[in-house]
This record gives sequence, C-alpha cells and structure tokens, in this order.
Amino acid sequence: MIVAIDGYSSSGKSTLAKDLAKILGFIYVDTGAMYRAIALYFLTNEIDLSDEKLVQDSLDNITVSFENKDGENCVTLNGQDVSKEIRTLEVSQIVSEVAAIPAVRKKLVAIQQSLATKSLVMDGRDIGTVVFPNAEYKFFIIADVGERSRRRYVELISKGQEVSYAEVEENLKHRDHIDTTRAMSPLRQAEDAVCIDTTKVTREEQLALAIKAIESKQL
Ligand code: C5P
Repeated sequence: MIVAIDGYSSSGKSTLAKDLAKILGFIYVDTGAMYRAIALYFLTNEIDLSDEKLVQDSLDNITVSFENKDGENCVTLNGQDVSKEIRTLEVSQIVSEVAAIPAVRKKLVAIQQSLATKSLVMDGRDIGTVVFPNAEYKFFIIADVGERSRRRYVELISKGQEVSYAEVEENLKHRDHIDTTRAMSPLRQAEDAVCIDTTKVTREEQLALAIKAIESKQL
C-alpha cells in the first residue's frame, strides 16, 4: 500500500509523512533527500549542469539509497551518510535546477518505484502524479509562503546554520517557481489527492485530518 504526499517546500509534508508512517507501520521515504544527495554530489564535484554528457556520466557513478541508522532513515550517497550535508542552504540553492534535469528524474523515479515491494509513505513533488499514480491514498500539502519560510528559518537556525530570514524566503520562492514550472513532472495536485492547508494547524491537527481522510476512504 502506498501513501503519496506531495506539496510545497516546508509545507509540513515530511512531518506528516513521518507521523503517518509511524502510525501505519509503513516505511517512510523522503524523495527530496534523494534529489538533495545528487545536488550535493554535483556541487562538491563542480559539475556543470548544462553539460549533458558530464551530468549523465556523473549519474552513472552515483548510488543513492536509504539506510536505517538508530531508527532514523539516513540517505547515503555512494555508501556515505550525507543526511546532514544535504540540508544546507547551498544545496537548497541548486537542488531545484538539478531536479529539473530529465536524466536525474529518470534515475530517481526508477529507484523510488523499485521500493514499492513494501508498504510506503513517500513524500515529494510528483509522487501522486508520476511515481505512483495509482497510490491508494494521496495528499497535497500547502501553506502560506510566509509561514513556510518561518518554519524553515527556525529549523536552519536551530541546526546552527548562519542564514537570514530573507535568504530562506527567497530560496523557497525560487524553488516553488522552478518546481511548478519545469517541463518534466512539475509540482501539481493529483486530481484524486486530498488537499490539506497547514498554515494554521498544529502537527497533531494535520495528522488527525489525514487519518480522517484515510478512514473515510476505506478501501
Ligand atoms: O522536499 P525537499 O524540499 O527537501 O526537496 C528538495 C527539492 O527536490 C525540491 O525543491 C524539488 O526541486 C526537488 N524534488 C523534486 N521531486 C521530488 C522531491 C523533491 O523535484 N519528488
């Protein structure tokens, strides 16, 4: 069984996905972390994103997977845990350009689909529309850009990163724009997805709304 959760950056998708996975006993897959891992590789190796051959050769040398470490899902890049490194603003600043490259999406969508041998809660931008269009349950999470920026800013500051609120807001708007306008699998709500606006709701309330929607669908 697949629960697909799509939505804007810092809208509360991953919090909901983790909470639902825990309650349902499903595996949680953060697909944003996979795009971030590839962006980190390109950044570290100074890969020119406009050089198609170089991008494809690099992708052929990259392995992205998940490992369970002390109950936490860690993303690994060529066998190395990069869970912390992928959360910096530098990675956020190029990840949407990287995620708009068709060869990158092709590689990651194939990995994501291969994980469906188990029940999953997967979050991202194209899970209900492209990766698992037949997912049993689909959610689309939205929230005001101001509230999303505040959440991301607080998160980055709490991790000791030196960022300004303006930089964070600018980055979210930039990513929203690229994610919704790219040619291949742009962010959009699947027709059969339940939309939840998390601007004014607590973590517990958003979870309750999702559970209510799941229960009312009763497959
Ligand atoms: O979820 P998160 O904000 O960490 O995702 C980082 C970026 O990865 C997004 O802004 C988007 O460009 C890209 N992404 C995507 N498709 C997904 C998941 C993430 O294009 N399924």
